[in-house]
Amino acid sequence: MKLVTIALGSNQGNRGQNILQALTCISERIGTIIHRSPFYENEAQGFESKELFLNGCIAIETILEPLNILQNLKEIETDLGRNKKSDPGYSSRPIDLDIILIDNQVINLEDLAVPHPRFRERLFVLKPLCDIQPTAVDPLTLQSVQELLNRCPDKSVLTIHELKEVR
Ligand code: ADP
Ligand code: MG
Repeated sequence: MKLVTIALGSNQGNRGQNILQALTCISERIGTIIHRSPFYENEAQGFESKELFLNGCIAIETILEPLNILQNLKEIETDLGRNKKSDPGYSSRPIDLDIILIDNQVINLEDLAVPHPRFRERLFVLKPLCDIQPTAVDPLTLQSVQELLNRCPDKSVLTIHELKEVR
């Protein structure tokens, strides 16, 4: 069994519904959700968008191999309406599913880097990650998630957002 941390983000469509559907798909196709953070509303970073993001993290237990986990996450993104990107780089999306940590593994493949290369600079990842796994250690810097959060220069404002099922 591996403990895998996944960051979820959405800034298009019914964001709460997108997140809840992704959580259901992940538990059906990948593994058991052990922890789920609060979800936070925050402004898009790295590109201009009027649509605010909802971001949060989960920890799951799975027997799947890393590339298989990634493949499943990409399929869930597509199933929830995410188009193949025309431009590289950060952009609006109904759902983004990123692998942040897999136990204390370091992976450097063409399609998959773990720990996620940019998670240390992103408050919208570190804050929810710290809510569920403050003592998890980043295998590259050997700092705990709590330490990374304390030192994070990103001072964006995160507002807790209740996820509600829409029928
Ligand atoms: P971003 O999340 O940076 O906005 P995308 O979601 O479009 O960008 O992902 C681009 C590519 O990043 C994916 O095709 C995937 O193969 C690759 N990738 C590398 N490492 C990871 C990771 N840890 N989690 C998710 N995707 C990753
Ligand atoms: Mg992604």
